[in-house]
Amino acid sequence: MRILVFISTFLISVSGMFAQEIYLHCGRLIDSKSNNLLNEKTIVIKDDKIFAVHDGYVKPDENSLLIDLKNNTVMPGLMDLHTHLVFQFHEKVYMEKFYLDEADKALRATVYAKKTLLAGFTTVRELGGSISNSLRDAIAKGWVDGPRIFSAGNAIATTGGHADPTSGLNAHFIGNPGPKDGVINGPDEARKAVRQRYKNGADWIKITATGGVLSTAKNGQNPQFTMDELAAIIETADDYGMHVAAHAHGAEGIKRAIKAGVRSIEHGSLMDDEGIQLMKKNGTWFVPTLSAGKWVAEKAKKDGYFPPMVAHKAAEIGPKVMATFAKAYKSGVKIAFGSDCAVSPHGDNANEFIYMVEGGMQPLEAIRSATLSAAQLLEIDDRLGTIENGKIADIIAVPGNPLKDIAKMKDVVFVMKEGKVYKQP
Ligand SMILES: [Zn+2]
Repeated sequence: MRILVFISTFLISVSGMFAQEIYLHCGRLIDSKSNNLLNEKTIVIKDDKIFAVHDGYVKPDENSLLIDLKNNTVMPGLMDLHTHLVFQFHEKVYMEKFYLDEADKALRATVYAKKTLLAGFTTVRELGGSISNSLRDAIAKGWVDGPRIFSAGNAIATTGGHADPTSGLNAHFIGNPGPKDGVINGPDEARKAVRQRYKNGADWIKITATGGVLSTAKNGQNPQFTMDELAAIIETADDYGMHVAAHAHGAEGIKRAIKAGVRSIEHGSLMDDEGIQLMKKNGTWFVPTLSAGKWVAEKAKKDGYFPPMVAHKAAEIGPKVMATFAKAYKSGVKIAFGSDCAVSPHGDNANEFIYMVEGGMQPLEAIRSATLSAAQLLEIDDRLGTIENGKIADIIAVPGNPLKDIAKMKDVVFVMKEGKVYKQP
């Protein structure tokens, strides 16, 4: 036994010694740290880490692999802080709860996960989805290809709230879901739901602080938690080392969530000036998910696409988020990238960059919102989010110069995650 341990330790150290280095010749580089566009750099990757960044094109030795990205702009792996890999919206999606099993959802999610990775997103935060803890683990173990996942598992709502899984059903199906299913009433149940998620292996807590667009419920913006429920959730999450992300459209629910101490507001469609000031004061992050707002507003124009109750909310709330984003950005609110893909198709995450720039953000800052800023929100900026020595080698490249044409972010040609190449020109 001891000999085996010795031999395997020896083999690991030998293979480490001769690990093939990868050299990337980068025509342009956005390292996200200097927040500048740099020219002609060489990145050296060893195992799963960035080993060196050199000026100019350094020639690799014969044992190393060279990847030519001279015609590309290279940057850190992108992060999407609002995804739901468990589903993708289509006209008949409301029927899925009657015929799909968890295993079906999990297998389908592997396809969406791969699409997301190949679109350049090497990290995502999964904000609501029954299979996301398992998917995270399957990807981490190398069973399937996908982004690194920070998972919230199922969201927490109140009875009849946006994430109540039986809202809108008939008496036979409506049942009485509780904390385990993500439905709470009162502080005790709130604490139980958080602890249950911790036990299930979640990294984050997601709450639906107000009504939402796609649930079959009347109101898309009413506040759905009392202050004592919010306080119980945030205190308990704190105890277990988790942060809280709040889905919120309406102004009152947004303000309650910020005051209670959530780390990020998702959507924020109808945020008012007081809400913006509170965000700044409390250092709360804003994840605007413009893609979702645009997508639902567009589909609401199509007769019969949504159930009538949903169509009304989509037309009312969807178009609002662009102006709110522009205002919050100008006011200096901290913004991180999130697409809410599942509403719009997985793999189209980079549309969000186009909308952010449309809303007045500088391209370099939009890219930073999906790299360094996103890493700061997740508190992983000590190891991810920039291209510098010692960081984990999550690196992507797009053709041309995305600072001149942000749509280039949709044409990712190179994807490396933890030193492994998943896509190359
Ligand atoms: Zn969402």
